[in-house]
Amino acid sequence: MDILIKNVLLNNRKVNILVRNGRFECLDAAPGTVAEKELDADGCAVLPAFYNTHTHAAMTLLRGYGDDNPLNVWLQEYVWPYEDKLTAEDIRRGSEMACREMISTGTVFFNDMYFDIDGTMDEVDKAGMRASIGITIMDNHSKAVSDEKARIIRDWKDRGNLTLAVAPHAIYTVGRERLIASARLARENGRKLHIHLSETAKEVQDCLVQTGTTPVRYLDSIGFLGPDVIAAHCVHVDKEEWDILAERGVTVSHCPCSNMKLGSGRFPYELAIASGVRVTLGTDGSSSNNNLDMREEMKVAALLAKVTGDASLLSANLVLQWATRNGAEAFGYDSGVIAEGKLADAVLVSLDNPKMQPCHNLVSNWVYSADSSCIKHVICNGKVLL
Ligand SMILES: [Zn+2]
Repeated sequence: MDILIKNVLLNNRKVNILVRNGRFECLDAAPGTVAEKELDADGCAVLPAFYNTHTHAAMTLLRGYGDDNPLNVWLQEYVWPYEDKLTAEDIRRGSEMACREMISTGTVFFNDMYFDIDGTMDEVDKAGMRASIGITIMDNHSKAVSDEKARIIRDWKDRGNLTLAVAPHAIYTVGRERLIASARLARENGRKLHIHLSETAKEVQDCLVQTGTTPVRYLDSIGFLGPDVIAAHCVHVDKEEWDILAERGVTVSHCPCSNMKLGSGRFPYELAIASGVRVTLGTDGSSSNNNLDMREEMKVAALLAKVTGDASLLSANLVLQWATRNGAEAFGYDSGVIAEGKLADAVLVSLDNPKMQPCHNLVSNWVYSADSSCIKHVICNGKVLL
């Protein structure tokens, strides 16, 4: 369906935007242009939609459960025992809630890692979003798939906006041989690898004791790292490791709220930016955030970057790029920016909202001042989801 987005603010000008076949056909359509559907966007600005590159959607069910504990206690005493009891239907409903929350907060894509993935995939289809759904591999978790079952990925055909990934949980939950086998399975089938990496100081210490080296060096030594890897967190990564990540073309998903809430530490923004690694943003699951709001994630990231004294570190423009374009690029989507020919993913933000006024700088208002109540419409693949 063609959509004409009328009177919307783009680069400080009011324009009419024509969306055709899921793409931005014309960003300055002539007066009198007609389309099957018209969206009156007077008083709104158009901005790129969010790509959440690390989450566990169905963990909406665990929101507010086991709060205020460090990562190892939280996982071992709260999360894993709770997850043992989840049914496939629970996970479907948790994913449905997550999709609703993500759309209402401007997100059109998420990179997931969870269990019993069929229900999550159905809910993504129903919601009209995009997603990469990770098949979670873990050594000691009742819901994790067997290596046998993980091979379903060989027969999987992407359906439009939905793809599968191989998701070995972390180096402390998956042994060396399975990590190697996971990488092989992903690469033989052209899939992404999704893993938690160097999230806590404890992970690094335990890795040093067990392998004699640090997590990034360990994964590199077994041939795991490559441009198909999405590594979540990377909080405790030294300069040389950042260079390794850059050289291998790894994408890093920075999850500031989760890192702060679990006491994991401050992401090394200076090193990450200097290394040239592609950095993206993720919310992580709802039990360590406790929501899936990517706009909030941008603000927290930009503030956390500055907290050690450099107010120029991680500008509003750069953090918006991490949350939008970088995420789209990491997953090979021809989207993430508002430009002719690109896939039409966008949020329309109300400038009438007091949090958006005065508008000296739209991106600054969006990152530092707004909240999701400013979002009027969300568009994914040329379809209006909100
Ligand atoms: Zn996670």
